[in-house]
Amino acid sequence: MKEKILIVEDEKDIIKMLDYNLKKEGFKRVSTRDGEDAVDLVNKERPDLIILDLMLPGMDGFEVCKTLKNESKTAAIPIIMLTAKSQESDKIVGLELGADDYMTKPFSPRELIARIKAVLRRVKEKDKTPEVLKIGDLAIDFSKIAVTVKDKPVELTAKEFELLKTLIKAKGRVLSRDHLLDTVWGIDHAMEIQTRTVDVHIRTLRKKLKSESKYIITVKNYGYRFEYED
Ligand code: CA
Repeated sequence: MKEKILIVEDEKDIIKMLDYNLKKEGFKRVSTRDGEDAVDLVNKERPDLIILDLMLPGMDGFEVCKTLKNESKTAAIPIIMLTAKSQESDKIVGLELGADDYMTKPFSPRELIARIKAVLRRVKEKDKTPEVLKIGDLAIDFSKIAVTVKDKPVELTAKEFELLKTLIKAKGRVLSRDHLLDTVWGIDHAMEIQTRTVDVHIRTLRKKLKSESKYIITVKNYGYRFEYED
């Protein structure tokens, strides 16, 4: 399966050129000429990478980048910024906002494709979690979505598994209830599902993990962390 690239650019000719070259490389493509629309499209289409022009009418590329990088659901999607400006300051602001790479117009499609591949490769390396992780008597198979304690299978719901996975992936960092709610349930805090939901699921998760629930540490009035070092 080939990755999906979202092109956010207001110049028709550049969209056309990018679309043509990405298609030739076998990528799936989605495009928009509008910043606000881009944010909606990212949530709807879940692209693997975003090519984001800086100068857009309305919401500009910086704003789009900031919005996406501040949202836990979209923060991990890599962004390559495009701009007609070659000022160093733009580049710095872009990278500070979390853009993964930067290209100044005019650019060669070949170079952009090379950068896209490099960024996608980097992301893949970063995501690599061992398929089966063993911590004490607990074993988690991420590809099969299966958990065992002392070699006995533990039946977890999808949300409980996601919760456990999110905690483990944080590698000992404390995660707030809001963060867990957002990552596991994918909803904004104001919705009817409340942070209590996190506590309820942690409780059932602990019950199911029995002795191995000792790794899940409660951080009072804040959230949880999974105590483990690899
Ligand atoms: Ca533009």
